[in-house]
Amino acid sequence: MSKYVYLFNEGKADMKSLLGGKGANLAEMTNIGLPVPPGMTITTDTCREYYKADRKLPEGMKEQVRNNLTQIEAATGKKFGDAANPLLVSVRSGAVFSMPGMMDTILNLGLNEATAKGLAENTNNLRFAYDAYRRFIQMFSDVVLEIPKHSFEHLLADQKEAQGVTFDQDLTAESLRVVIDNYKALVLKESGHPFPEDPMEQLFMAVEAVFRSWNNDRAIIYRNLNKIDHDLGTAVNIQSMVFGNMGNDCGTGVAFTRNPSTGEKKLYGEYLTNAQGEDVVAGIRTPQPIAKLQAEMPEIFDQFVKTAEKLENHYRNMQDIEFTVEKGKLYMLQTRNGKRTAQAAIKVAHDMVQEGLISKTEALLMVEPGQLDQLLHRQIDSSAKLNVLATGLPASPGAASGSVVFDADDAERLGKAGQKVMLVRMETTPDDIHGIIVAQGILTSRGGMTSHAAVVARGMGKPCVCGCEALKVDYNNKQFTVGNVVIKEGDHISIDGATGRVILGDVPMKDPELSAEYLAVLDWADEFKRLDVRANADTPEDALKAREFGATGIGLTRTEHMFMAQDRLPFVQQMILAETLEERQQALSHLLPMQESDFYGILKAMEGYPVCIRLLDPPLHEFLPSQEELLVETTVLKTRGDNAELLAQKEELLKQVRKLHEFNPMLGHRGCRLGITYPEVYEMQMRAIFNAAARLTKEGFKVLPEVEIPLTISKAEMSFFKVRIDRIAKEVMSEFGVNFHYTSGTMIELPRAALLADELAEDAEFFSFGTNDLTQTCLGFSRDDAEGKFLPHYLESKILKENPFVVLDRQGVGKLMEIAVAGGRKTRPNIVTGICGEHGGEPSSVEFCHQIGLDFVSCSPYRVPIARLAAAQAAVSNGENLGTR
Ligand code: ADP
Ligand code: MG
Ligand code: MG
Repeated sequence: MSKYVYLFNEGKADMKSLLGGKGANLAEMTNIGLPVPPGMTITTDTCREYYKADRKLPEGMKEQVRNNLTQIEAATGKKFGDAANPLLVSVRSGAVFSMPGMMDTILNLGLNEATAKGLAENTNNLRFAYDAYRRFIQMFSDVVLEIPKHSFEHLLADQKEAQGVTFDQDLTAESLRVVIDNYKALVLKESGHPFPEDPMEQLFMAVEAVFRSWNNDRAIIYRNLNKIDHDLGTAVNIQSMVFGNMGNDCGTGVAFTRNPSTGEKKLYGEYLTNAQGEDVVAGIRTPQPIAKLQAEMPEIFDQFVKTAEKLENHYRNMQDIEFTVEKGKLYMLQTRNGKRTAQAAIKVAHDMVQEGLISKTEALLMVEPGQLDQLLHRQIDSSAKLNVLATGLPASPGAASGSVVFDADDAERLGKAGQKVMLVRMETTPDDIHGIIVAQGILTSRGGMTSHAAVVARGMGKPCVCGCEALKVDYNNKQFTVGNVVIKEGDHISIDGATGRVILGDVPMKDPELSAEYLAVLDWADEFKRLDVRANADTPEDALKAREFGATGIGLTRTEHMFMAQDRLPFVQQMILAETLEERQQALSHLLPMQESDFYGILKAMEGYPVCIRLLDPPLHEFLPSQEELLVETTVLKTRGDNAELLAQKEELLKQVRKLHEFNPMLGHRGCRLGITYPEVYEMQMRAIFNAAARLTKEGFKVLPEVEIPLTISKAEMSFFKVRIDRIAKEVMSEFGVNFHYTSGTMIELPRAALLADELAEDAEFFSFGTNDLTQTCLGFSRDDAEGKFLPHYLESKILKENPFVVLDRQGVGKLMEIAVAGGRKTRPNIVTGICGEHGGEPSSVEFCHQIGLDFVSCSPYRVPIARLAAAQAAVSNGENLGTR
């Protein structure tokens, strides 16, 4: 028979896919001798079998659980369901990837009237036993019986009111007895059955509920958001209970071995005296900093510090730990690699190398490239005058402004309509996730640094301030107050997640400054990566920004942006509307010096590095006014009848616009087809590039221009331009009396180009994959139509795994790229290959580019650091360069 269940001492950390993250780490902690309450893990396989069998627990699993329970009973000296000395357990879900707060844990399972009595007698504490019992009924009813939590909360609140007390802990045993009776009556009424008394029945109902919860809405949303496979299933952990709520020598807490927000090497956590499990994270009572534990129980604190250190050394990573103290004894309940901000990820990785704990390659793998984006987030301009309303906990860095909403549904609706919203809540729960996704930032009045809002926001790289207790949130009136300031729904506020400040109105932001640790880690990335990382930049400013971020060249300069400038558009239009070659050349002669100065600026900014300049690409009508606009204008002019000359002009323009109209511009008269029909346009651009290069060479700068022809499909096209490029280069060089190096090549963005790459390479010295167009033409998707209409359905129904415009489609587009690289190399072994589509800054696509042996990736300047790290990870995880360890 299959083994469905493992005792903690039978597992290991590397059995995550079978035991889930929580289970594997509980096993690991048990086996390195840490004080973990004994327990067992039901495997993720079992969950998958449960679903395969149409939601039935597999044969034999129950027996294995019962057998293991006997061993746990022996270890704890208690007996499950025994009235005299009852063993209680928690039932905890634990998937392979941690899914914070997605599934609820049931504590104190095994309690019924008889065992509650036994517990009371053994602990000599009736109040404690009843409190545990009423919590258990509430959690079990919520998670297993699916009776809404709030019904129970109401009953509890009623009782508190009747007794005139504010806090749960002030309720007496007698009052709790009443609460339990009311709870049970509610269960009977809502479910039609009495609350289950048989502990074994409770246990298996709970196990099934965990399996079921794998497919509840919030779990599915979370997995979709984080691209976690829906078929993995979850494990179930059954663990003997320890109690943090038995008095003031008890408590419960969570801690990170380093600060998850900044990365500072200092134990960082929160702690509640006399409390059980969920109390810390639920945001009901705002917990105290871990330092309080040092004051209250110095010995336990010391032991905890040592344990935390041991765990960090053992896992070679920052840990996120849950613990409980029962009557002066420490127990470890969970550990995992802690989620952290980008800033913390960088600092931890850097510091751990300095401490000699990990190698540089491990450090590089420790930082998630996509996360670096956060560091490049804008921050509040420190010179700005701010109207600070209040200060809460700095839960997730970055600054954001938005209009206030109080409800996740409102946030989603307005956010999707394009509004920038700030979600303000007393606390968030997993049910708010859809609102959090669209919000600019999250602000809560309750909860600590490990509250739901904080954890989720950090994961998403979203600014968050939580536990801002000065805020009085009033959901009914959709407003919050701070002192006598009232902020209503729709009002604008800003938050600074790095300092916890809540600010009235929008605030000026500025670009971030990068830390020394950041620079060091990215230097390591450069040491290990093989791909060059270039940037896409159209202006000297962008080129400088790109160099600052570590780009070593420009992979794509689009020249059309330069045509759009207001001072140039008239000449561009004149060029387009010219009826004779002479007229056109006259317009071009105005554009030449302008283009030349553009290229001069960019080549200079990128001194010493290659700059790939693409000749004009978009269809010409993009530079003319729209047909609709002109129709309105001519109609107005006609009815007024007072300006015949202007009318004639506009009518002529309209005629041209109609002539240039295309049924499908994406596949129309664009790219090098323009250069074939109007060679003088491309020749002007070539001359502008070479003039700039010649001038700079004369001034002593080293320049490396690359002239790129867009949208080719044949050698004949490429040859047509190659002749001209070489002729003009020669002319310019002799005119200026200088020599400079240049190359000519093409974008590969049509399937035919990829298939005939060997022929193209006869004239092309480089290929740059324009994967946006290549994706459109390979899949036959026009991007705007696809993303606006059917792509979401394709993704939902898993016909496509990823949006191919975001993550490179390796199977199709990737195959064309491989064909093109092979073809190019056959003809020209040292051909330079790269990618310049948006994919060039997306980590998984960068990995693919590494694997097929491209020379460079190119992306927007802000994504350059991401690409550098992704390129290093691709090299490191491919087993190259593992030398340092
Ligand atoms: P989550 O995955 O949401 O963190 P956990 O399974 O870790 O859920 O449990 C929720 C809370 O209950 C945590 O604070 C945890 O420490 C506590 N807890 C879980 N099992 C036990 C146990 N056997 N004894 C005491 N507390 C427990
Ligand atoms: Mg936990
Ligand atoms: Mg293109």
